[in-house]
Amino acid sequence: MDMQSTKHIPPSSPREFGFFLNGKFEHACGREVFERNSPAHDIPVSRVPKCTHADLDKAVASARQAFEDRRWSGLAGSDRAAVLLKAAEIIRQKQEEIALWESLENGKPISQARAEVGGCIGMYEYASGLARMVHGDSFNNLGDGMFGVVTREPVGVVGLITPWNFPFLILCERVPYILASGCTLVVKPSEVTSATTLILAEILSEAGLPEGVMNVVTGSGNTIGQAMSEHMDIDMLSFTGSTQVGRSCVAAASRSNFKKLGLELGGKNPQIVFADADLEDAADGVAFGVAFNTGQCCVSGSRLIVEASVASEFTELVAAKMNKIRVGDPLDENTQVGAITTNAQNKTIMSYIVRGQKEGATLVCGGSQLDLGRGQFIAPTLFTDVKREMAIARDEIFGPVLTVQNFETVEEAVAISNDTVYGLAASVWTKNIDKALMVTRHVRAGRFWVNTTLSGGPELPLGGFKQSGWGREAGLMGVEEYTQVKSVHIEIGKRSPWIT
Ligand code: NDP
Repeated sequence: MDMQSTKHIPPSSPREFGFFLNGKFEHACGREVFERNSPAHDIPVSRVPKCTHADLDKAVASARQAFEDRRWSGLAGSDRAAVLLKAAEIIRQKQEEIALWESLENGKPISQARAEVGGCIGMYEYASGLARMVHGDSFNNLGDGMFGVVTREPVGVVGLITPWNFPFLILCERVPYILASGCTLVVKPSEVTSATTLILAEILSEAGLPEGVMNVVTGSGNTIGQAMSEHMDIDMLSFTGSTQVGRSCVAAASRSNFKKLGLELGGKNPQIVFADADLEDAADGVAFGVAFNTGQCCVSGSRLIVEASVASEFTELVAAKMNKIRVGDPLDENTQVGAITTNAQNKTIMSYIVRGQKEGATLVCGGSQLDLGRGQFIAPTLFTDVKREMAIARDEIFGPVLTVQNFETVEEAVAISNDTVYGLAASVWTKNIDKALMVTRHVRAGRFWVNTTLSGGPELPLGGFKQSGWGREAGLMGVEEYTQVKSVHIEIGKRSPWIT
């Protein structure tokens, strides 16, 4: 299919999805149903069942059975790799369909969704190699009477809770790695963006994933998500979303079965720009870093920290770029920034924009809703005269809102960058290698970009410092995260007796 010339239109009626239990789709059958409106078109596009607690218990039991009978973990890594590679091939065939559902439910531009799905293919391919190479260690230096072996085993049944900002990408930064480790899983996508997770369940089944290995429950976070975090038979929970819900997952794990946790939470990520940077390039990167995915991005570069000597010149460059961003219908191939995904998020972003002005920051561009006839859109927004104590400088807004603070020295740039409870990501723009390395070394963040931003692939792990979370996803660590380590002590010959 010539993707670029495919002109999509929203569906005339919503598509009914079932949830995925033990290798089969189960339909609503009397359960309540959640209907999702496209945030860009204001029309219903999909319907998913609201799973009950009993449905969740069945999904966990199905994943447990599949784990215990070793239908997946007992396979050779090469057999698991074959399924992941086949899944990559089917995702490639269905790239356009998946991109369309991402766009319809999330509001992101179709061209961006297509690129994200393209990136996900590589994650299955890369994780397939890891399924074959994950290994432990051995100790042959314990004396003639002892040999030590360290093995890695899959952690068991994993609960995976994913958010609405990158429904397919965040899913695929985790699922192939979890499957490579040999775990089984129960996934709960955000209720507002369930479609592509359900499509993935079908793809994996078609690729040969045994039934019960991946189950998908649909429903809201505060019912099904909360029940997952409290569930006694889930061995590990991987949660991506707000710091507030991340905290509740920690509390739930501690009062239930002490399940292992992986948490990827919020960010308030600095974009540090030195006077010696290629300012044109940096301005483009900074505008992209904050407006990409309407700023609904945990690694969004939402704080511009710029060297004072070029601050006004650079801010003007960035504002000019932001004013040129094409905000519009996500199904239009030319659109760069689409709709705000949820009504709640739209309100949150607008309330921060109002608060920023009330607290004395200067609005340089944007600052308002865009009336495109339907849907909810916000113009990319830039604030100067921002003080460290202002809410817009401290809180994760999760919208296309950039704040500007100035610095005089490298040390000050580092101090402002670290003046946040978060530590997810950071970018530095400079042509001076010493400055780049100083900043990279001293800013506390799990992902770093030098003279670029928001790029990446399946090889490098993702995760945060400080209150941005625990653990790492993707890369080799993304498989190891879903394993437990077992130390095996092997006596060689006869033990020296204790009782003589
Ligand atoms: P949430 O943290 O509420 O949602 C993220 C995921 O968690 C969704 O699948 C949600 O399900 C689920 N969830 C909600 N409540 C619970 C719970 N009690 N127990 C377990 N799972 C739960 O984020 P919001 O959607 O409310 O967004 C609020 C803010 O969170 C944003 O403004 C942004 O700052 C941040 N955020 C950060 C993300 C990131 O990538 N780090 C992603 C999304 C949000 P459901 O949606 O079905 O209710």
